[in-house]
Amino acid sequence: MKNEAKLTSTRADVPDRGLVWLNGQFMDFAAARVSVEDRGFQFGDGIYETIRVYDGTPFAIEQHIERLSRSAAAIELELPMSGEEFVTIAQELIARSGLKEAEVYIQVTRGAAPRLHPFPIGVSPTVVMTVRPVRPIPRRFRERGIVVKTFPDERWARCDIKTICLLPNVLAVERARRAGADEALFVRDGLVTEGTSSNVFIVHRGEVVTPPADHRILAGVTRGLVLEIARGCGYQTDEREIPLSDLKAASEVFITSTVKEVLAVVRVDDAVIGNGEPGDVFRRLYDVYRSQLPGRRRAPGSESVEESR
Ligand code: PMP
Repeated sequence: MKNEAKLTSTRADVPDRGLVWLNGQFMDFAAARVSVEDRGFQFGDGIYETIRVYDGTPFAIEQHIERLSRSAAAIELELPMSGEEFVTIAQELIARSGLKEAEVYIQVTRGAAPRLHPFPIGVSPTVVMTVRPVRPIPRRFRERGIVVKTFPDERWARCDIKTICLLPNVLAVERARRAGADEALFVRDGLVTEGTSSNVFIVHRGEVVTPPADHRILAGVTRGLVLEIARGCGYQTDEREIPLSDLKAASEVFITSTVKEVLAVVRVDDAVIGNGEPGDVFRRLYDVYRSQLPGRRRAPGSESVEESR
């Protein structure tokens, strides 16, 4: 488990192939510098997006930029560029990097100013975009599914905003990893909300169910796509609350995210899900998801990596 945690949680051993755009300029990671007075660093006063790049094409970028705009509005941050400008810069960043299978990360903070809590006046936001090779997903995750551990949801009451304040998420996933699990799922008032960086679905009596996209969860782009795919495949879908007991008793559980795509969950705490293997509904939805990705012709999971143990 130690080796694997290293593989998926720290990239310190992976050379930096990638590129940064910071406040109007392209540069290497080594050259990119942000002020110690940046409000992202001081207060977590910022928002972000992660976009998956397939075959050199950013996937679902419009939805991500739309969500970035919603997050910005929710924290009263005026974005200094239009949505189209974000898309153009992201495309140029990808092209300049030469990367094909990559992740674009966008972060916007309220800028750098002497450390006082109220909004600074006359300060421009800091905008950073990076592109890096995609973080590999262990092949075991794809083929055999993942194990999740549940934790009390101790986050704030606006989890619908994609802010960079991720400390509860960081702590939960770290504790899950140490306990031998691959992802942590949050539970609030007995109801499952979402993962630390993923949304959660169950299959209950043949119906595909996920918690409603209210203030308790981030409305994942992948979540939306998977719901559409499920309807397109003829499954009944519902967005309703999921008690922890229903999660553990579900015939299938899976999580979704931009980077993880769709991953089957085969164990929740001590409860084995279904027969302990990725289920048929998951397989069907993931197959269709893969078929819709830019330049996709290869078999699912072909760019996932072998575990190092
Ligand atoms: N919930 C949380 C808390 C997340 O951080 C993420 C990943 N950004 C998701 C859900 C999944 O969202 P998406 O499908 O847009 O990547």
